[in-house]
Amino acid sequence: MKDDEKRPGGERYAEDAEASAAREKEPGENGAERAAEGEARGGNGGRMARAKGVVKERGRLRESVAALVSRAGKAVRDAVYPEDITCDVCGAELVARTRYNLCAACTEEMPFITGHRCLNCGLPVNDEADWCMRCMNTESVYLANRSPLVYEGKARSLVYALKFGGRKYIARLLGAMMSDTFLSCGMEGEIIVPVPMTEKDEKKRGFNQSELLARDIGERLNIPVLPALSKTKDTAPQKELSGRARRENVKGCFSAAYAEYLAGRRILLVDDVFTTGATANECARTLLSAGAASVSVLTAAVTKPRLAVEKGEDGAVEVFDDL
Ligand SMILES: [Zn+2]
Ligand SMILES: [Zn+2]
Repeated sequence: MKDDEKRPGGERYAEDAEASAAREKEPGENGAERAAEGEARGGNGGRMARAKGVVKERGRLRESVAALVSRAGKAVRDAVYPEDITCDVCGAELVARTRYNLCAACTEEMPFITGHRCLNCGLPVNDEADWCMRCMNTESVYLANRSPLVYEGKARSLVYALKFGGRKYIARLLGAMMSDTFLSCGMEGEIIVPVPMTEKDEKKRGFNQSELLARDIGERLNIPVLPALSKTKDTAPQKELSGRARRENVKGCFSAAYAEYLAGRRILLVDDVFTTGATANECARTLLSAGAASVSVLTAAVTKPRLAVEKGEDGAVEVFDDL
């Protein structure tokens, strides 16, 4: 404290400190403090009172420096282990940077597709098979579908949360996975076209999830996104229909614009779920008629084909936009 008093302007500093310390006291304490102060102002005691203020102020400084250091420490910690980033599936805080916004447990349970795939729909098949059961007798005009996920378990929860829970940020997670699939499967695409909804349906939901996915993928892969397709015909829910009936039902319900941009281009069609491929096929047919050179399909998840006998027995309520 002696050092402080010797320092030029030290007294002034001490008085300021005293005053500010007094301002922060409770009213009761304040009165007593002021009385003691007045008494002390006379002689040696005045110095003591002022010194008391300096000590107090130093204490406060120490506290605020400690708070500052702790805040800085938190900032550094946050930069390395972002506290505000949570798992997109279960909400658990992520303790380390990950490729996707998923905790270790959800990553483990996420039905990622690895290994040998069906040449047409991209579903995992055993090493000897070229096609899955669904695609064995199906002809398609698109080159192939590829998806990072099988549509089950946690993948289904993700798509549901995006489409029906309005959690649009999930498009970023799925978009990251889909971009990785595009690259790892050596897919082609000069223009990305999202699968459209009818104007009425999109208004009802507030967004088209396929377009959100397309935009995210386009940004990541630096491929232009062109909403060239529109769905002009409303279709009734067709979840009970077989693949062939679904194909009949989507016939002629899309139309293509921007033919001058599509002409001679390799198109990447983007959708959320690949179910029977009826929608993808009809979109591809429309794009090819408009002059596109080829159409590849990239979806977030592909469903497993279900045997007719299994239908309705699992009790699951399924809502597919893919007819
Ligand atoms: Zn999780
Ligand atoms: Zn297949």
